[in-house]
Amino acid sequence: MKIAIIGAGAAGMTTAYLLNKQHEITIFEKQPILGGNIRTLNKNVTGVNLDSNLVLDNGVIEFQRDHFPNFHKLMKALNVKMVPGQTSSELFLSDGHCYKSGAGIIHHCEGLKERVAEMWKVLPILKGYLLFLLAAFRAKPEQLHNQPMSAYLNDEIHAVWLKMLLMYAYSMPYQKIADFPAEIAIPLLRHSSMFTKWDRVEGGVYSYIEKIVEQFDGTIHCEANIQTIVRTASGVVITMENGESLSFDKVVFAVTPEQVLKLLGDASDDEQRRFGAWQENQLETVIHTDISFYKHFGISYYSEFDVFQTDTHGHYGYNAYLNRLYGIDASKYPHYSLAYNLDKRINPDKIIHRQQHNTPLYSVAAIRYRHEVIANNGENHTYHAGAYLGEGLHEGAISSAFAISELLG
Ligand SMILES: Cc1cc2nc3c(=O)[nH]c(=O)nc-3n(C[C@H](O)[C@H](O)[C@H](O)COP(=O)(O)OP(=O)(O)OC[C@H]3O[C@@H](n4cnc5c(N)ncnc54)[C@H](O)[C@@H]3O)c2cc1C
Repeated sequence: MKIAIIGAGAAGMTTAYLLNKQHEITIFEKQPILGGNIRTLNKNVTGVNLDSNLVLDNGVIEFQRDHFPNFHKLMKALNVKMVPGQTSSELFLSDGHCYKSGAGIIHHCEGLKERVAEMWKVLPILKGYLLFLLAAFRAKPEQLHNQPMSAYLNDEIHAVWLKMLLMYAYSMPYQKIADFPAEIAIPLLRHSSMFTKWDRVEGGVYSYIEKIVEQFDGTIHCEANIQTIVRTASGVVITMENGESLSFDKVVFAVTPEQVLKLLGDASDDEQRRFGAWQENQLETVIHTDISFYKHFGISYYSEFDVFQTDTHGHYGYNAYLNRLYGIDASKYPHYSLAYNLDKRINPDKIIHRQQHNTPLYSVAAIRYRHEVIANNGENHTYHAGAYLGEGLHEGAISSAFAISELLG
């Protein structure tokens, strides 16, 4: 069959890889480069002032070892090496207080005295966290439907920390986390603790997309401007902005969900309902070498999941320290970090790359008809893939591609 895949992020590229041998695949990507939220400096992002021996990710960076089974299956099939990381988190509040996570206390405190002092500090937070975990583990899947995270997280410190971790995981503004769907967040938070193991891809995340491209026999159109997609009795017609019309047997939408109705010229009432509430979330992340803002808190150990309340007017951001994660020797190279929403704290001269991203804006209303989208894959020659059909992270993107490949042989 002739199959068009719209969008060349993780979901689109994995779908292309899985269907490549059986079908004639054409990928349409609107950006000049492949990868979607995978942005590896010195790989798919070039021309950056970064030592050519280094790769750094200004987008997707790490993967849970024990809860991303399909992702790891794919890495194994592609012969991509995963490297274990040692991760921890620290909470930095605007009043100058900071708190270390369990992993932070175990790995980063010098001596028993410092450990006990840090544990003493987090003790008041622990009770709220344990009660949250109890509620999270007790909640049955059907109880999570149509529930916003405000039903589980209030404004106590443990809850603020967890909301900031959700802001980090989904790159969404902190203020929007109150309406974040519990159905997606609770399963993630259940298995995001000091015992959770995280891995990175050796050579940067784009390495696995490179391997897919090497094996791919189909056609790739980057900077593809699609005007409209309509379905006919026998297949799908894609009309480009230059007027060219291309015919396919099937189409796979692997775009962010708010794009689907913009692209479809003949959306049915069901499709209008399924995709109508999705909105776009636009954000910028930066790779920088400024660690001076940690000094304010008297900190000399930087973590991979550091979250900051930058003022009392609702500004929150995160900083992911990259040297440890990527095995970069800080005595030879600068301290590299990936940051979101910390603009006022980072010296602009120390920013080496800015990256714009689009992600789905998760809300209770937006995901209401997700199960219908999955159940109706194949209807009207049309399929959907994307992280948003799973847990919103890489496992969701890869699993949705696996599901389509099963349907399309
Ligand atoms: C800063 C950041 C960090 C992240 N870090 C992690 C992480 O460490 N681990 C993790 O598991 N997840 C992480 N994520 C989540 C990440 O979004 C998912 O893991 C996954 O990469 C999403 O893949 P996708 O294919 O579903 O969507 P996308 O990557 O968004 O791909 C969609 C593609 O469709 C293209 N497209 C959109 N509209 C059109 C159109 N009209 N025509 C043609 N093409 C179009 C886009 O340009 C894009 O290439 C991160 C996200 C961000 C933004």
